[in-house]
Amino acid sequence: MASDTIRVLNIIEQTMADGPGLRTSIYCAGCAHHCPGCHNPQSWDFAGGKDMKVGDLLEIIKADEISDVSFSGGDPFYQVDAFTSLARRIKEETDKTIWCWTGFTIEEIRADEHLAQMLPYIDVLVDGPFILERRDTNLLFRGSDNQRIIYLTPKVEDDIPGAVPLVKLR
Ligand code: SF4
Repeated sequence: MASDTIRVLNIIEQTMADGPGLRTSIYCAGCAHHCPGCHNPQSWDFAGGKDMKVGDLLEIIKADEISDVSFSGGDPFYQVDAFTSLARRIKEETDKTIWCWTGFTIEEIRADEHLAQMLPYIDVLVDGPFILERRDTNLLFRGSDNQRIIYLTPKVEDDIPGAVPLVKLR
């Protein structure tokens, strides 16, 4: 996949389900984690959805002046080149925050230079695979209690509902 193209399953505008406040959620196609009990197995197919240019996604995001941005899937880190390009441009051209969901842990991402390229542009990372035995339906924005809402920038701290535990890594 070219770094200016993202395989997109769905775009949901002005959702309140994927992080605090209103957000434009980009759901990408493709996930190889194959977590048992995954809530969205139809997202595993890397050929699902359709190709969209980073520039076109950016225009959709910028057209909504009030919504922040969420990357989900699937797993955006399987298309890390193009998502990094999109995230970089969001940070250069808007003041929107970015939340990103991934089945990788942040330790796995940081150990891989290729994956880690996106971290500087992400405000909040929700990390780790869904583990069926650790499912907790009371959790906000996560399916199982191994998953962490990792606060990566100071900017968004106050936007996160108080009940959400944060792992401050830097
Ligand atoms: S990482 Fe998420 S999308 Fe991928 S299999 Fe696990 S729960 Fe499903």
